[in-house]
Amino acid sequence: MSARIGVLALQGDTREHLAALHEAGAEAVTVRRRGELESVDALVIPGGESTTMSLLLRELDLLDPLRARLADGMPAYGSCAGMILLATEILDAGAAGRQADPLKAIDITVRRNAFGRQVDSFEGDIDFTGLDGSVHAVFIRAPWVERVGPDVEILATAAGHPVAVRQGPVLATAFHPEITGDRRVHKLFVDSL
Ligand code: GLN
Repeated sequence: MSARIGVLALQGDTREHLAALHEAGAEAVTVRRRGELESVDALVIPGGESTTMSLLLRELDLLDPLRARLADGMPAYGSCAGMILLATEILDAGAAGRQADPLKAIDITVRRNAFGRQVDSFEGDIDFTGLDGSVHAVFIRAPWVERVGPDVEILATAAGHPVAVRQGPVLATAFHPEITGDRRVHKLFVDSL
């Protein structure tokens, strides 16, 4: 039986991830409530605004259940804001009371809006371990990774920083494969389930 993948649908580009997962051959559904979270085998956290998603996770009483499922080994993939949330530690996490809360699913330290200081958004072709040919990566007020734990595999780098990482069942990219039409990164995640 194939895995049922949830896409966290509180804010951000949920629809693009649902489409990408469907095109990658997966069953994908939105997750907004606790019951929906409990019903999926894996979760995608979309790009968007990590501080807003954290606020909504807290308000909807989803933060602790989500942390519990991730601690229990639920596979997850996060792009951009999703990468930020999956991290162990977030630098420049936002104003007190409005900060992005780390879900601590992958042992990395990320800096929010890291590329933003130099240039808000940019695109480029990057090598990605496990994929043939380059991946066109779109960065939009993207984070980068400043520290990786010993069990974290770096799959891609840009500007000297890791921008795609994996630890066991958890994958994270600082860029947005969901908006380029190239389904290889989603397929990598789907095929790992
Ligand atoms: N800067 C956003 C954040 O902090 C992420 C941007 C994105 O997902 N494109 O969550």
